Amino acid sequence: MLTGILSFIKRRGLYAVSVILVPKPMLALLAFSFALMSQPPLAAHRQSDWSTIESPPFRIFYLASDKIYTGEITSLFQTAYLDYAAKLNLALAGPVSVFLCPTETVFNQLTGHAAPHWGEGIADPVKRIIILKSPGLTDNRRRLPKLVRHELVHVLIGQAVSEPRELPKWFNEGIASYLAADEEFAPGEAISKALVSDSIIPLDEIDDVLQFQQAKARLAYEESLSFVNFLVEHYGFRGLTALIAELVAGHTFETAFEHAFGEDIFEAELKWYSYLNKEYRWNFLIDFETFLWVFILLLFLLVFLAIRLRNRKTLKRWEEEERPAAPWS
Ligand SMILES: [Zn+2]
Repeated sequence: MLTGILSFIKRRGLYAVSVILVPKPMLALLAFSFALMSQPPLAAHRQSDWSTIESPPFRIFYLASDKIYTGEITSLFQTAYLDYAAKLNLALAGPVSVFLCPTETVFNQLTGHAAPHWGEGIADPVKRIIILKSPGLTDNRRRLPKLVRHELVHVLIGQAVSEPRELPKWFNEGIASYLAADEEFAPGEAISKALVSDSIIPLDEIDDVLQFQQAKARLAYEESLSFVNFLVEHYGFRGLTALIAELVAGHTFETAFEHAFGEDIFEAELKWYSYLNKEYRWNFLIDFETFLWVFILLLFLLVFLAIRLRNRKTLKRWEEEERPAAPWS
């Protein structure tokens, strides 16, 4: 099984990845944990080290340290599958293998380093395989339900269409974040800042998201979710299910989009740019941390100017006081 996984992993570009987003102070902690867990004693795992839980259509593979998460993960996959199968009118064509990785080393071994460092999960819809960083590794158990739902959407949609590799990344990531109700990307702070600096990424460039640095990747994920939100707000959720049905029927993405929404993707993207300006222009103010620093800087400048003004007045007063008095006439 592992040999098979490693061979599929060698073929890059097939994967759909989830972003790991942790508050800034946690990044250092996470990096520290990675360094600890990448030590040789935990680096190598034999095939016999993996245990399995069968919960059709899911098969969960885990190592001893992650046993505590398996019950929750199994139940999350089952619940999400029931929900999405009904919503999207899709069914899995066969079993899905889920691997839970307790360390970066194991994650990198299984993914063949295909995922960028900010990825917390990866899915291959063709082989119906999902590889997740365990909550013990991400130190973020709260996000586990979103992660499970996100990767399941990738597999469910990707395995149902004839050309999963042709699906645009904005669609893959946008619909996965939308259906997983991932509020992490919803406020659109990165979009708001990008509007100010005129650096919105065009939708077709989001295809290169795996090469992006974390901050740009975050913007790409926010934009993908925002475009899907825009489509649902303007054309209804039925537009999305119609798009998926058209894709399952074998149409190219461009044709499927036009059939589902009644206009081509470029027209929709233009309208979305206006929507971005309306919806997100001032959202960067929500980023209190940045706003606070600007405020402190302004306050510092004001105090500096006030002190200079006061000093000038004092000097002037002293000059006047020292000037000799006019002689009596
Ligand atoms: Zn994803």
